[in-house]
Amino acid sequence: MLTAKNIYKSYDDLQVLSGVDFSVNAAKLSAIVGPSGAGKSTLLHILGTLDQSDSGTLIINNKNIGDFRGDELANFRNNTIGFIFQFHNLLPEFTAEENICIPAYIAKKNKREIGKRVEELLKVLGLSNRASHKPAQLSGGEQQRVAVARALMNDPAIVFADEPSGNLDSKNADELHHLFLNLRDELGQAFVIVTHNQELSAMADERHEMKDGKLIKL
Ligand code: ADP
Ligand code: ADP
Repeated sequence: MLTAKNIYKSYDDLQVLSGVDFSVNAAKLSAIVGPSGAGKSTLLHILGTLDQSDSGTLIINNKNIGDFRGDELANFRNNTIGFIFQFHNLLPEFTAEENICIPAYIAKKNKREIGKRVEELLKVLGLSNRASHKPAQLSGGEQQRVAVARALMNDPAIVFADEPSGNLDSKNADELHHLFLNLRDELGQAFVIVTHNQELSAMADERHEMKDGKLIKL
């Protein structure tokens, strides 16, 4: 599904990643832990093709990311990868349903297909009666579930999440973590999650710690 080999990344004089190897398969949840500033977000951005490494190889769904040219990478990303962040980044002027549909609008999917998928996701995420609410009218847990639905809209092979429960109380965090496990089992996505939450990392199929610029399997 995803294999990264010997990834290096520096910012000016600061060497953040120095030879990271990582891989994840479908229907697996992989947690990345480590202290603040260790380079976890940097790695997640590189694995998610949002940022470029200085060197190393990244292969996702049998495609070598370094081979993409022009718009190819943005199209591939929008169709293959979902992102969930600590702060939901929902657009305040749009309803829950419209926010969820954004990746499909970008992919120019047809209306019928979009309607079917969004209905399915609203149901799976327990948001059917919140579809026409704007983000400010939703609870923190609901907002984050909308962000999860948006990440899943184009049925990505892999979902990256950066501290997804970092801004939730423990009850909502717990619900979100179990939701990830259900999605892994039912939809078969690979999840790669950076987290400080010990309950979430304990639930993961694999745990890795970012240390001294490398990833160590725990
Ligand atoms: P973590 O997610 O583990 O907290 P980050 O990947 O956010 O770590 O950051 C790792 C290091 O790289 C930190 O010292 C951070 O300040 C630095 N860093 C991250 N992004 C940039 C950037 N765009 N420019 C310069 N330094 C950066
Ligand atoms: P996180 O809380 O996930 O570790 P950060 O708050 O460290 O993320 O980083 C948020 C954004 O700011 C990232 O896009 C990162 O690349 C950028 N960034 C982080 N540290 C620096 C820095 N020292 N200089 C410039 N950009 C940075």
